[in-house]
Amino acid sequence: MNAARRAATTIRPDIQALSAYAVGHAEDAIKLDAMENPYGLPDQVRDAVAAAARATALNRYPAARHDALDAAVRAAFGVPDDAALLFGNGSDELISLIVQACCEPGDVVLSPVPSFVMFELSARFHHARFAGVPLTPDFQLDLPAMLAAIQARQPKVVFLAVPNNPTGGRWSDAAIETILAAAPGLVVIDEAYQPYADGTWMPRAATLANAVVLRTVSKIGLAGLRFGYLAGPAPWIAQIDKLRPPYNIDVLTEAVLLAVLRYKPVLDEQAARLRASRDDLARELASLPGITVYPSSANFLLVRFSGKMGANAVHQALKTRRIRVRDFSGGDPALADCLRISLGTPDEHAALMAALRDILA
Ligand SMILES: *Cc1c(COP(=O)(O)O)cnc(C)c1O
Repeated sequence: MNAARRAATTIRPDIQALSAYAVGHAEDAIKLDAMENPYGLPDQVRDAVAAAARATALNRYPAARHDALDAAVRAAFGVPDDAALLFGNGSDELISLIVQACCEPGDVVLSPVPSFVMFELSARFHHARFAGVPLTPDFQLDLPAMLAAIQARQPKVVFLAVPNNPTGGRWSDAAIETILAAAPGLVVIDEAYQPYADGTWMPRAATLANAVVLRTVSKIGLAGLRFGYLAGPAPWIAQIDKLRPPYNIDVLTEAVLLAVLRYKPVLDEQAARLRASRDDLARELASLPGITVYPSSANFLLVRFSGKMGANAVHQALKTRRIRVRDFSGGDPALADCLRISLGTPDEHAALMAALRDILA
């Protein structure tokens, strides 16, 4: 009791009022809730990973520079030579560093909503104010509303997830150009799902006065590693880098990533396979009664249930059948009838469809 009382008088009240970020637990379930790549690494790559781990000295701190990893990331992901590069313990860490670097207490962080929840959480953690600009009812970017909000709120940071999570759409380059021209501060183009989309801002990462490009390896098969990277003009990256905790990329992450990136075509092939399955799953889902499937450029589909069974009931029924998808009840009301379904293997899609046909019958 004493600890509870001391914590209650010491921990920031706004933190006490938060509920902790819920991470789903799902052993031996079909996991279609977290945009993970369902394909493991082939034996040849696992052997390379094991050899890299074995050769790593765990008694030493990570090196101050990551030259080999820098070169490997640039080559694997098309980062331009003249862009500066910053590594993070997942792109979540980089989101947090960006807000810390740009925002004084009360400054505004702006993003369309619904979008990635860490944009708002990071703003709150660092005493910034969050301005969410609702998407249109069919989950498109509301550009006039974005421009009006940017004008009115003068955000230090604008986060754009391109493609957007959890809706799946990719904002047009023209709309993003317009936002870049209007934004008084930094625009972060978060390309977590770029491997499943057409187009990227990465080739322009060094040339934009007020934008940086954020990526992660989480959605292409390495979610367990915790590695993200931020590419942009050196004057921005050098400042944000000052806040990076020393040694944020541990020796195993570095060694394993270097080993896996030698087999980058394996990851590309898995992403291509997932992407190729997206239209088929969307078509099958759309054939069910009372279901709307939103267009997706990512490795998930957002689905709206307007029949007699609501999204929450469908979520529960799927859970009983050991199939995990993401339910948004309790979150943004715009998503109340929606489930987000990550792409899985053909067998997982078949099991999902069989379960849904059964549940909705
Ligand atoms: C999943 C996701 C991330 C987080 O990536 P990590 O590197 O795993 O921290 C960042 N941005 C968006 C839009 C995401 O959906």
